[in-house]
Amino acid sequence: MEITDYQVFSVPPRWVFLRLETDTGLVGWGEATLAGHSKATVAAVETVMDHYLLGKDPMEIERHWQAMYRGQYFRDGPILMSAIGGIDTALWDLKGKHFGAPVYELLGGRARDHIDVYQWIGGESASAVSDAAADAVENGYDVLKMEAVAHTERLDSPETIERARERVAAVREEVGERIDLVVDFSGRVTTGAAKRLAAALDEYDPMFYEEPVRPAHFEALPKIEAHATTPLGTGERLYSRWAFQDIIEDRLVDVIQPDPSSAGGISEVKKIANAAETADISVSLHSPFGPIAFAACLQLDMVVPNALAQGQDLEIHDPEDNDLLRYLRDPTAFGFEDGHVRAPDGPGLGITVNEEYVRQQAQLDVDWQNPIWYHDDGSIAEW
Ligand SMILES: [Mg+2]
Repeated sequence: MEITDYQVFSVPPRWVFLRLETDTGLVGWGEATLAGHSKATVAAVETVMDHYLLGKDPMEIERHWQAMYRGQYFRDGPILMSAIGGIDTALWDLKGKHFGAPVYELLGGRARDHIDVYQWIGGESASAVSDAAADAVENGYDVLKMEAVAHTERLDSPETIERARERVAAVREEVGERIDLVVDFSGRVTTGAAKRLAAALDEYDPMFYEEPVRPAHFEALPKIEAHATTPLGTGERLYSRWAFQDIIEDRLVDVIQPDPSSAGGISEVKKIANAAETADISVSLHSPFGPIAFAACLQLDMVVPNALAQGQDLEIHDPEDNDLLRYLRDPTAFGFEDGHVRAPDGPGLGITVNEEYVRQQAQLDVDWQNPIWYHDDGSIAEW
């Protein structure tokens, strides 16, 4: 088999899809979304395809991964690793279709039947976020995720800590002890502030604190841990097994959250997840992106014994009449039920992309950027 052509599609709300063609007529799909950097990621995909992968046999995934990574003198970083992530996923989709098997069968076979998915709940006030929590539980979710602090807060006053406490307390009171709650710091606060915040929210028993500090400050994670019993998680802004190496070997967190669409694809995240298992670290694949990236996550979740809960931003509980899932021929492919989903059993990623809709949406001018946030004094805040 030979890869004969490819197309990259930038589509709303902020996703990049890749379609690989072969001389056998088989087509593979991947997702190389890196929100805010779509144009650069598309260019990186085109560079790898044009200079290396066109004309190659798609079956040799590991050789191609090594070439896409080691073949570059300047390597790593979110843009190249997202390009590799999308291409690697499309290669696995092709391999599955070639052998008539879901990717999870080719990766070793099922370790589980299904996996919980979590739902993000928003709202700045305690009542707004607890209402959102009630809705999510009503919709069937058992795991929720909320932001610890709102966007412009430096966390330098007791009032800010108290507001965070009120919001988390309101959600815990609303949903009870059966529901798991991830509290995301989003790397928004300083290490000093994160210590206080971690201590203040501990009594509400979060499942874990997500990204308590930014990736540049991982050596500070033990300082946070000293102030809370809540497990720590991180990893959405790490892009390879080498980036995860220290936090796994030093057991700096309890949960890692790589994203196949930005961390080198199915091949790389499988290796990262297996390394985490050796340190008794759980895996919660991040995936705030599109349905192709989500399908790749589910294939991994089936074979990763230490997978904990799967992220998603697709309103997965409402597949009918859902614009985010119109990119699939069958929006019910993930089978949401009782708070969990299953990897589709079809060949490859198990989904059928609605190609006409992708081509139609790709005509729109999509260049999503995150907002720039400011503190009250005009200085730049973390988003
Ligand atoms: Mg996060």
